[in-house]
Amino acid sequence: MEREVQRVRAAFRSGRSRPLTFRRQQLEALRRMVQEREKDILAAITADLSKSELNAYSQEVISVLGEIDLVLEKLPEWAAATPARKNLLTMLDEAYIQPEPLGVVLIIGAWNYPFILTIQPLIGAIAAGNAVIVKPSEISENTATTLAKLLPQYLDQDLYAVINGGVEETTELLKHRFDHILYTGNATVGKIVMEAAAKHLTPVTLELGGKSPCYVDRDCDLDVACRRIAWGKYMNCGQTCIAPDYVLCEPALQDQIVQKMKDAVKEFYGENIKESPDYERIINLRHFKRILSLLEGQKVAFGGETDEATRYIAPTILTDVDPGSKVMQEEIFGPVLPIVPVKSAEEAVRFINEREKPLALYIFSQNNKLTKWLIDHTSSGGVTGNDVIMHFMLSSLPFGGVGSSGMGAYHGKYSFDTFSHQRPCLLKSLKREGANKLRYPPNSPSKVDWAKFFLLRRFSRGKLGLLLLTLLGVVVAVLIKAGHC
Ligand code: NAD
Repeated sequence: MEREVQRVRAAFRSGRSRPLTFRRQQLEALRRMVQEREKDILAAITADLSKSELNAYSQEVISVLGEIDLVLEKLPEWAAATPARKNLLTMLDEAYIQPEPLGVVLIIGAWNYPFILTIQPLIGAIAAGNAVIVKPSEISENTATTLAKLLPQYLDQDLYAVINGGVEETTELLKHRFDHILYTGNATVGKIVMEAAAKHLTPVTLELGGKSPCYVDRDCDLDVACRRIAWGKYMNCGQTCIAPDYVLCEPALQDQIVQKMKDAVKEFYGENIKESPDYERIINLRHFKRILSLLEGQKVAFGGETDEATRYIAPTILTDVDPGSKVMQEEIFGPVLPIVPVKSAEEAVRFINEREKPLALYIFSQNNKLTKWLIDHTSSGGVTGNDVIMHFMLSSLPFGGVGSSGMGAYHGKYSFDTFSHQRPCLLKSLKREGANKLRYPPNSPSKVDWAKFFLLRRFSRGKLGLLLLTLLGVVVAVLIKAGHC
């Protein structure tokens, strides 16, 4: 492992990953990999998550292809230097911000969407000119093996490496120095990653989880709301970081929500859910048993059927859930939807704010003012109004958590920025030394007065600013010539 990390670092030091043409070539190669090896990729995902190939394609592959296309189109713009605003003392100099690669990036992926959660950050890291070590989740072992086989066939083998393994290997890997770590997974391991990173002062992006609330208002089209909630909750058998974790609503809405969710489930998966190609299974026995334990003592209003042999848990709804019960203490990460009755939107806000900041907040209401009020009085990684999951799909929005749901963000330009250092550059001339006398010792009251004049005034782009600029320019030129400064 030591040799592998050193090899990647040496490749980064060679400077090969920096030119834009090289970055574009690598991203085009990655796109070719996804297109040419689509069958291998889909087979691996379906084997890991008992998912149909169609769902694997629409949930994991389409967004990756869209992200590569976006980056290829926008890269020249994102990577270009941005001119910086200047003050009086620097108006004849060159000031700009130049994004530069950070160095060697470590990407640690999670198992629930094993392809996209590893490849999407990789796209951003390559685009920003970094070298990358990818550590897929060992729990989705088929995708992990496929990535280790395919990526070296398409990408520069020295700059981009895949290291597979479990806790032991990841612990070992984390002892090395990286220039950025992006980790996706649970908060307990997030803390381990952050502690390891702190030893080298390595910045981290932590994409964690949490309990994402879904508030359903009385003023709402319940048929549409329940169909959308059912889609986001039961997709991937509830194993989605931004799935609505629980519903908050007035007590009178509870029964209607249960009935309409039932209708939606029937519409999506038919009478025999077990036979539906669109309904997945729980990833392993440990998670299966963990989710079952959350059902103990609960009122099951719908679903509840399970089959240990195939790790099947039916789409399930719990009603009148006590906020103190176990199912409300941890992220469910399975197809179980508790409904917690609240008397009003104010009580819903109090409920949300008494808990850790969630990764997502969902609000279903026709009352736009109420939706905005809920947004203004809570905090969460992201928000979707009148739908679920969809803010993840829009690459112009940063995706990430806040507080215990994570730190930092990625997707589109935000990935590029996450893996770049915004380097401030000020290029001066060796001439015009007269003006510099202001800052050289010995200091004097008049020098301080001049410094105040030069530094505390800013240009505006308006007409007045231009006039002032011209006037000040003349004054400065005269002063420099006369040797006053
Ligand atoms: P996981 O078990 O696959 O772990 C994630 C990664 O951490 C793996 O690569 C694994 O090798 C590594 N790891 C595990 N234990 C470790 C240890 N002791 N030391 C070092 N590394 C270790 O995934 P998980 O944690 O079960 O994932 C589920 C969680 O991830 C949920 O909380 C979910 O909400 C969250 N999640 C968040 C996002 C997001 O984008 N914010 C996406 C998916 C999942």
